[in-house]
Amino acid sequence: MKFMKRIYLDHAAATPVDPQVLKKITETAKKFPGNPSALHREGQEARKVLEYARTQIASVLSAHSDEIIFTSGATEANNMAISGVVQAARMRGIKNPHVIISAIEHPSVLRVLRALETWGLRVDYLGVDAHGTVDIKELRKLITPETVLVSVMYVNNEIGTIEPLRDIAKEVRHARKVYESVFPYFHSDASQAANYCNLNVLQLGVDLMTLSSGKVYGPRGVGMLFARRGVHMTPLMHGGEHEAGRRPGTESPALAQGFAEALVLTEKIKIKESKRLTVLRNFLITQILKKIPGSSLNGSLEGGAPHIANISIPGIDSESLVLYLDAAGIAASGRSACTSSSSEVSHVILAIGKATREEGGTIRFSLGRETSREDMVRVPKELSRVVALLSTKGFK
Ligand code: PMP
Repeated sequence: MKFMKRIYLDHAAATPVDPQVLKKITETAKKFPGNPSALHREGQEARKVLEYARTQIASVLSAHSDEIIFTSGATEANNMAISGVVQAARMRGIKNPHVIISAIEHPSVLRVLRALETWGLRVDYLGVDAHGTVDIKELRKLITPETVLVSVMYVNNEIGTIEPLRDIAKEVRHARKVYESVFPYFHSDASQAANYCNLNVLQLGVDLMTLSSGKVYGPRGVGMLFARRGVHMTPLMHGGEHEAGRRPGTESPALAQGFAEALVLTEKIKIKESKRLTVLRNFLITQILKKIPGSSLNGSLEGGAPHIANISIPGIDSESLVLYLDAAGIAASGRSACTSSSSEVSHVILAIGKATREEGGTIRFSLGRETSREDMVRVPKELSRVVALLSTKGFK
């Protein structure tokens, strides 16, 4: 039997660590064993590495290095931003804080607010159109004098829609002026945007922004929250005075360095990779829509990130599709990895108004650095073979 190369199309869930970055992590871990908080030479050398990594990340974001807080990943950064701002607002005398998020946020935003709602927080969920774009006019109507935070992701992890961050930032700034308040702040989870979109926080107008190293070909287990100078936010966890008292726990210079190197690297190839993947993604989508009757794109061809193609296929169950594609050598995803064990319909697909039986199950292909033109020719062929097989087996 001929050996078929596996095609990995789940980069939205995890990117492979860049070999150059991996080398740097091992070198740093070996060379700098000290605790960055220690006063001795080993500690101070480790501190230098950590602070250099912070400067590198800050420079990619056009931020100050004291605005970068290292975390364990995007989940923690999102939790920190939301819980931290709500708590700080209460401490500043806002008795009944209100938060607005989009209806298509990642569970690490959505579920924090669901939890805070049970403790009495008022939350509004901003609707999206059929392509997944938030409604700015609706946002304007929802903001009240008690709104302390607006959180809208940069790129949706399931369908790839790029949200209009600058327009949202304008509304938030306008509200601050009108209500003569330091609130609301604007937070954006930019985890899925980092490889392809502009990350300049000044141009975007965000007050808080989340990134995950594991999505930019860096090591997993590290991420960061950008918090603009002056933003009021209480810590999520309590312990030592690390990260300027904002995030306790011994820092990892090696992981921070790996994350910084990965981010700098991805920034260098951003424009070229975005162009290359847009062509490949659009080719993949058009081929699938042509080959599979009734299939439809979730998201938008023009307004989507270059790496995500999410398709609904009538009469087919997502999970069976993922398993059969896996057997055919293709790694794709039915829902996002963070919710793939739950059988309920995706809240994102529901929000774009498409979760009917006729529209069927969804499959997400997410492209990356090693994705080739040949892969994009093979995937639609295998997909239509698998769909035909599942249809005859009655896996609906
Ligand atoms: N936000 C988004 C948009 C994501 O895609 C993910 C990863 N699926 C996360 C947050 C969580 O990232 P992490 O694993 O770094 O906590």
